[in-house]
Amino acid sequence: MNRLPGHMVVAHVAKRQIDPYEGFAATAAELDIRLTAGSLGLIQKTIRFAMQRPELRRGWCSDLRYCARCMSRRYHSVIYQFGGVPCCLVHGCFMQTMCRSCGASSDYLIKASVLDAPFKCPHCRRSYGNSSASFVHCMPLQPHERAAIFRIFIG
Ligand SMILES: [Zn+2]
Ligand SMILES: [Zn+2]
Repeated sequence: MNRLPGHMVVAHVAKRQIDPYEGFAATAAELDIRLTAGSLGLIQKTIRFAMQRPELRRGWCSDLRYCARCMSRRYHSVIYQFGGVPCCLVHGCFMQTMCRSCGASSDYLIKASVLDAPFKCPHCRRSYGNSSASFVHCMPLQPHERAAIFRIFIG
């Protein structure tokens, strides 16, 4: 599959000139929402929903928090970044902050190393997902599973 390297994407969607390898926080102040939405073929509301918002900063974790089973299915939600969400809303697994292969944690930032290895640890490049996941468990989350996560977030 042809795609742009991560450093080019990060530099393209940032509002100001940044080092794409250092990255930036996923906030509306840092990310060009209109350009990102247009580039991804999404509506701006979808991009805004995925942003870290100042009014919701309480409980926000600056390190990536993830569900390994969701990562196996190539899914991550911004909702998982809140410490008040201890378990995955679909799988019931406890959220994790460290790579199960190398033990490193990662900043929750938009940066080249993350975009170049999606759903993988930027330190060791091993998958955050369950390595033993079967084909069925690697299927994308179904719409009703995504909707369940969204409903809990918006109340
Ligand atoms: Zn999950
Ligand atoms: Zn790792």
